[in-house]
Amino acid sequence: AAKAGRRGPVVYDEQRHGSGRHRLEAVAQLRRAIDEGELTLHYQPKLRVATGRVEGVEALVRWQHPERGLLFPDAFIELAESAGLMAALTSRVLDTALAQRREWSDRGLELVVSVNVSPSNLVDERFPDEAAGLLARHGVPATALVLEVTESLLMEDRERAVRVLAGLREAGVGVSIDDYGTGYSSLAYLATLPVTELKLDRTFVRTMTGSARSAAIVTSTLQLAHALGLVFVAEGAEDPVTVEALAALGCDVVQGYQLSPPLPPEQLERWLGTRATA
Ligand code: C2E
Ligand code: CA
Ligand code: CA
Ligand code: CA
Repeated sequence: AAKAGRRGPVVYDEQRHGSGRHRLEAVAQLRRAIDEGELTLHYQPKLRVATGRVEGVEALVRWQHPERGLLFPDAFIELAESAGLMAALTSRVLDTALAQRREWSDRGLELVVSVNVSPSNLVDERFPDEAAGLLARHGVPATALVLEVTESLLMEDRERAVRVLAGLREAGVGVSIDDYGTGYSSLAYLATLPVTELKLDRTFVRTMTGSARSAAIVTSTLQLAHALGLVFVAEGAEDPVTVEALAALGCDVVQGYQLSPPLPPEQLERWLGTRATA
């Protein structure tokens, strides 16, 4: 019954099944997954170009489903959002990521952890306090956390979103505009928001070495981001030529398969270890 997604079937397809028993079952399963720890995080390194060091990682959620195996976010994020489970999912992800960050720092590994947040988080005015509370509970400094928000998300309830972002910034948490360029707001408009980082969508990065158009978008976005005092991040760098081109342009941070795919924590640690001794 599930539609074939980018990397496999979705847990539930809103369009095809409407509401009904199938949906209720999928929601119940997801609720259980959130409550009982079936969600895990993989971490993808973010390379600081100027130093050649991995200064941070992005936490990406996976669902270790008892029957279906490892599921990617495309298979359940939409359902979480529509079923009102996103607040609970984000809390779980944030808690897990900060516990991991604390464990790493206890072993001398200082990484900035980026966590993705959703529309429902940004219209929840208690969210900044929740984030601050979790940081305190895990003894993690706010500067070690970046929250990634998508552009579309910022358009929905703008005033409330700005208040929530301002609250996060006041707490000392970094804020990144994710998937930049896929919506239709201008960077001039987005720059009025309290953010620290701009992450250009991978569609432009992936094609920049073969397309003058994409290259122009990368170059101009980077210049504008820098003019506005934002850290410029390129995601989806899949080959060495792209990484070199980004470095030559003055890109601050690079993320993508060329460096490493998202990895479970132990594998990430091993990967960091081999890099350090290479
Ligand atoms: P995103 O935030 O844009 O995350 C980057 C996605 O690009 C990840 O997919 C990552 O595996 C993939 N990626 C990384 N490097 C490359 C590359 O070089 N080439 C290509 N083609 N892809 C690359 P993933 O893990 O499947 O996540 C998909 C989306 O699901 C994320 O997109 C994000 O919007 C959402 N997501 C993931 N984790 C969470 C979460 O904890 N909470 C929420 N609300 N959303 C999440
Ligand atoms: Ca992201
Ligand atoms: Ca992105
Ligand atoms: Ca995305």
